[in-house]
Amino acid sequence: MSLKDKTIITVAVTGAWPSKKDNPSIPLTPAEIAEDVYACWQAGAAIAHLHMRDDEGKGTMDVEKFKETARLIREKKDCDIILNFTTSGDLNATDETRQVHLKTLQPEMASYDCGSMNWGHNALFINHPNFLEALAKTMNENGVKPEIEIFDAGMIYNAMYYLKKGVLQGPQHFQFVLGAAGGTDATVENLVYLKGLIPEGSTWSALGTGKGHLPILFAAIAMGGHVRVGLEDNVFYAKNQLAENNAQLVARAARIIREFNKTPATPNEARQILGLKGGVTA
Ligand code: ZN
Repeated sequence: MSLKDKTIITVAVTGAWPSKKDNPSIPLTPAEIAEDVYACWQAGAAIAHLHMRDDEGKGTMDVEKFKETARLIREKKDCDIILNFTTSGDLNATDETRQVHLKTLQPEMASYDCGSMNWGHNALFINHPNFLEALAKTMNENGVKPEIEIFDAGMIYNAMYYLKKGVLQGPQHFQFVLGAAGGTDATVENLVYLKGLIPEGSTWSALGTGKGHLPILFAAIAMGGHVRVGLEDNVFYAKNQLAENNAQLVARAARIIREFNKTPATPNEARQILGLKGGVTA
């Protein structure tokens, strides 16, 4: 089976916001996150998108938490899942604390939020051009592939500008984050529109938050993209039914991919598809 028939499942296990009140199975500590990521890898996930929480459960960019979590994941038998660190895990973090974990731990991938916006209705999600240029430099120097997160169309044009200017390298990998309050809604029409804007030869993945989860999951697979699932984006399995855990969401995505006559990509296949530096690092 060629790489064209492989679909990469990214699992976003924690995020910065959901609490045990939203879903008791959300992993918060490094040990909980590592256990959860291992179960998701066994269920078919190739990439783990990771956020950290402090001891009170709040989003943090604490490099020690990333380090401990990565260590615990690599202790699991044969677990070669690709680690994708957030760079936006705490709205109060500084430009420096948002990238120090990339310099220290050199994960294979990290999120790159390619523009600013209102975050919900009471906060700002700021990604200043100076920060984006510095972050791209850090990623280039440390072999970290940017996962360019797109919350609205303008962010795609920013990404294309940085590609033209040589700040970002091609081929680019996009993650369409649909349904965040303040961003583009999670509809199939919006996904089709956004996907039509990205440069030829790019790779892409998509997620829909909350009730947008399934429409975007099915549409992304049908359109030949990759997918992201997980409690960061959606704590439910079905209407009024909480997901049992992240692995349950991954297993469903894997089942749908197989029904579509494709196969979930292994981490090494995902490395080839995305042009990662190769070899398991952090
Ligand atoms: Zn995230």
